[in-house]
Amino acid sequence: MEELHSETPKTEPEPLSKIIGLTGGIGSGKTTVAQFIEEFGFPVYYSDDRAKTIVNDNEDLKIKIKELLGNEAYDENGFYDRKYVAEKVFNNKDLLHKLNEIIHPAVRIDFEEWVKKQTKYLVFKETALLFELKLNLQCYKSILVTAEDNIRIKRVMDRDGKTYREVESIMEKQMPEKDKIKLADCVIYNNTNLDDLKEQTEKIIFEIE
Ligand code: ATP
Repeated sequence: MEELHSETPKTEPEPLSKIIGLTGGIGSGKTTVAQFIEEFGFPVYYSDDRAKTIVNDNEDLKIKIKELLGNEAYDENGFYDRKYVAEKVFNNKDLLHKLNEIIHPAVRIDFEEWVKKQTKYLVFKETALLFELKLNLQCYKSILVTAEDNIRIKRVMDRDGKTYREVESIMEKQMPEKDKIKLADCVIYNNTNLDDLKEQTEKIIFEIE
């Protein structure tokens, strides 16, 4: 006899806030913009920072990472060994892909839980990979922060002590700016000073309807 399912399927309620994706390549200034957005009173989810936290906090994720990369992916105190993992996936695209396939969905779930707790009409998701992972499709609008290559390189050299070539080689692996500009709903050009950056940020976020 056919089993009867009387329960209605559970559907997740839509979040009350509109999600705005915030992105930009290395050194574009997206974190600086995110901090301005917080100053204007809106919550920001920092995807990279959260990823760094959940690799240590999320037990399911820890198990999956150990299965993929070995127990050495965590040090003797149980903390994610970033250096070991970086060495392991360096020059191994397949392994890096598999690692991302484990981490990205965990971050997505973490974000969904975070968003449910928010009460502001706009919430922001800062992520370097908004377009690459097609996360913009889950956003109401997307904001891209961009700046000329030389300016970005100089800022990262000053910030991280990296060489010109090191920053340039990271940039070369990222999606070209011209492609991101085409995909973005709003673009902030961060070629001048912080006052100008803050002004552009304010204008854009308060014009979102
Ligand atoms: P990454 O992806 O590498 O983390 P990011 O896009 O988050 O970079 P930020 O960290 O916000 O970029 O900015 C890079 C550096 O440039 C920081 O040290 C920041 O203080 C500085 N910076 C950003 N915008 C400006 C600006 N308009 N004028 C001067 N310095 C700036």
